[in-house]
Amino acid sequence: MADLLPLVSFFINSSASIQLSPIQSELSLIWHAYCRDNYKISISSFVDQVSRINEITKGCFWKDLDSINSECALEYINIDKLVDLEEFLKVEDDNDPNRTNSLMDIDQTSPLPSYSAEDFFHMLNKPMNPPLNALEILITKPTARKELTISKMKVKWPKRQFAEVCRNNSHVHTLSNIFGNGGDQISKLRGKVSSTIYQCTLKNVHYLPIITNYTDISLGDCSYLDTCHRMKTCRYLHYYTLNASQCDDVKNDNLSKKFYLDCIANEYTLGDCLLEYKRAVLPPQWISCDVRQIPFSILGKFAVIISDPAWDIHMSLPYGTCKDVELLSLPMNELQDEGIILLWVTGRSIETGRKALTSWGYTISDEIIWVKLNQLRRTIVTGRTGHWLNHSKEHLLVGVKGGNLPWLNRLVDSSIVVSSTRETSRKPDEIYQIVERIVGKHARKLELFGRDHNIRPGWFTIGNQVSGVSIYEEEVRIKYEEYKKLTDRKKRL
Ligand SMILES: [Zn+2]
Ligand SMILES: [Zn+2]
Repeated sequence: MADLLPLVSFFINSSASIQLSPIQSELSLIWHAYCRDNYKISISSFVDQVSRINEITKGCFWKDLDSINSECALEYINIDKLVDLEEFLKVEDDNDPNRTNSLMDIDQTSPLPSYSAEDFFHMLNKPMNPPLNALEILITKPTARKELTISKMKVKWPKRQFAEVCRNNSHVHTLSNIFGNGGDQISKLRGKVSSTIYQCTLKNVHYLPIITNYTDISLGDCSYLDTCHRMKTCRYLHYYTLNASQCDDVKNDNLSKKFYLDCIANEYTLGDCLLEYKRAVLPPQWISCDVRQIPFSILGKFAVIISDPAWDIHMSLPYGTCKDVELLSLPMNELQDEGIILLWVTGRSIETGRKALTSWGYTISDEIIWVKLNQLRRTIVTGRTGHWLNHSKEHLLVGVKGGNLPWLNRLVDSSIVVSSTRETSRKPDEIYQIVERIVGKHARKLELFGRDHNIRPGWFTIGNQVSGVSIYEEEVRIKYEEYKKLTDRKKRL
């Protein structure tokens, strides 16, 4: 019986390849593959062994087959049954001192299994319905392109080093004395502090309290921290962040890393569009305009749209808001035939956002969550947002249009971004990187309701809070100039 072990193991290990082309489950070809793996055996005894395995396992290859010959092909491979048999045969093999006896010859008084493999399978009482292995393997296996894309993304995008926060108070004290209220470089520390502290500043982040004449330490941290508008007179505590990335040594290291990454990024992979590697990313483009007024047909179509509308949340905000109806009535179909849209939503506007995406013809596929951190890398609990709980996160709805789009890269990023807050309503840059990984760096990308800080290469930004106009794509520029002429003429009339 143990003579079946190599063949059983072979079927387990090669089940995927022998079911696919060119073998396609044909016994004679499986025999060739088996012999190639150094198991020399005649075709007739091979067929005999296969038949015995099928019999013992009560159908791991065929459900009911009258006679098996070398012309046959396997119906399926039931791995579970084969694994059980392998386990059984291994035990038998290990317990066998001569390794020649078959199960049938085992002495009943020995401590060896006293039942046959057939009994063993009967006891296991496995359900008999065979899974359609080949089909299952095909369906669940990620395509080579998908696997390649994911591993390329991992190589191309630099992993940002995470620097721990130094909790050593004496470090903070010493550094505070040297830096006063900020604005110096770590490289200048050499010789001024002990090498322990110097090494620590290269590796870790230090938060140095900024003490001014107004500061009242007993009040604790300013709840606005890095977004505090009156830092010079605020009585709460603020911090200066001493970060290793300010160090020249680290900067140089990053430069060489960038060069290395550029090299990899320019390495052409067969099957990819060569232009992707040769073409430069378009310079940033923007139009200062009222998103509700400008004809979208000027802009052309985009692969991705990010929109951060100033939702009318019945609060006084330092900027104008947008009525739900106005947002819903935007002719978004003029901007996108297929692709993805990302819509920032807050509190009550989540529902409106969902409604908007659906009415524009998108399927809501995901929801990205931005967990907001303050300067000290703590989640924000200020008591200034939310009704029952403090709001420490923001939501970004992701909608897809055009069905199962083959040009989108899937499963590269996760749906959580943990990143610090900056100016009011400014969103984390990580989102742009996620988007670029999904649609590729050359896809046309649009940001609606953008601001100056949103302007970036490869992106088109429109909104009434960007300054001026800069259009690089000629077609868009001509259309925009025509539109401008027309509106100016109308104004004059
Ligand atoms: Zn330290
Ligand atoms: Zn403050």
